[in-house]
Amino acid sequence: MVMAQAHRRRNDGEAQPASSRVRVRRLPERGRYERESIDAILDEGFVCHVGFLGPEGPVVIPTAYGRDGDRLYLHGAPANAMLQTASTGTQVCVSVTLIDGLVLARSAFHHSINYRSVVIYGIGEEVTDADEKRRALALIVEHLVPGRNADARPPTPAEVRATRVVWVPLREASAKVRTGGPIDDEEDLALPVWAGELPIVPAIGPPVAAEGVAADRRAPGYVTTYRRGGSIAPGAAPDGEAAALG
Ligand SMILES: Cc1cc2nc3c(=O)[nH]c(=O)nc-3n(C[C@H](O)[C@H](O)[C@H](O)COP(=O)(O)OP(=O)(O)OC[C@H]3O[C@@H](n4cnc5c(N)ncnc54)[C@H](O)[C@@H]3O)c2cc1C
Repeated sequence: MVMAQAHRRRNDGEAQPASSRVRVRRLPERGRYERESIDAILDEGFVCHVGFLGPEGPVVIPTAYGRDGDRLYLHGAPANAMLQTASTGTQVCVSVTLIDGLVLARSAFHHSINYRSVVIYGIGEEVTDADEKRRALALIVEHLVPGRNADARPPTPAEVRATRVVWVPLREASAKVRTGGPIDDEEDLALPVWAGELPIVPAIGPPVAAEGVAADRRAPGYVTTYRRGGSIAPGAAPDGEAAALG
């Protein structure tokens, strides 16, 4: 009977983790494995943190990225240690985090953060073909500012040579999402303490023209109307778990 239920859940389309190491164990109901959830977080963010084991110990480096289907593209100087590691058959771990709010509970213990995050494990592969490199570089620019490639001068062959591009497969990935208000203990609910959520949404300031830009050159539409995120993840109400952390 139990086996039949488990089988039915899988057949209902609930995505399963691709490997045991990406299974969210701490508050597993916050875990997501379907590509739509993972891609939505990756597409909204633009800074990832790449963790790898360097010669002197673990290192975590923040960097920009772009996504194309099942690939997360990273770029940088050829001597970049993170990119060198990622392109030599070594495991890396990449994470992307979006912050949606601060959660103020009645007790200090139950304070939390609303977030959407992705963790990816994989072995990177270097892009050596010049045309594919150009495409990946354009992808990263487009990921930061959609529409920008139509205006920006494309990289020269020398600039392409001076950039290392590596992609990490999105095969082994998990998302974790916390939404909703504080989850206070029953006995704290009557405390005379304000509790709730302080939503955090990204604010885009007015564009500032660079020195030398002609006074009559107006910022393009994709700059003046630039938006990023700002929506609170749908769905989950507080899940009733006692733990604040995780
Ligand atoms: C902004 C932010 C703040 C947080 N603050 C805290 C905090 O203060 N204390 C705390 O304990 N935890 C915090 N977390 C949650 C934290 O990321 C871990 O999920 C949690 O600590 C459980 O760790 P674990 O090693 O027990 O995870 P496990 O559930 O054992 O992890 C197993 C696997 O699940 C996946 N996984 C775990 N966490 C995440 C994640 N966040 N996103 C995507 N995949 C994941 C990974 O593949 C991991 O290998 C925070 C998360 C975010 C995004």
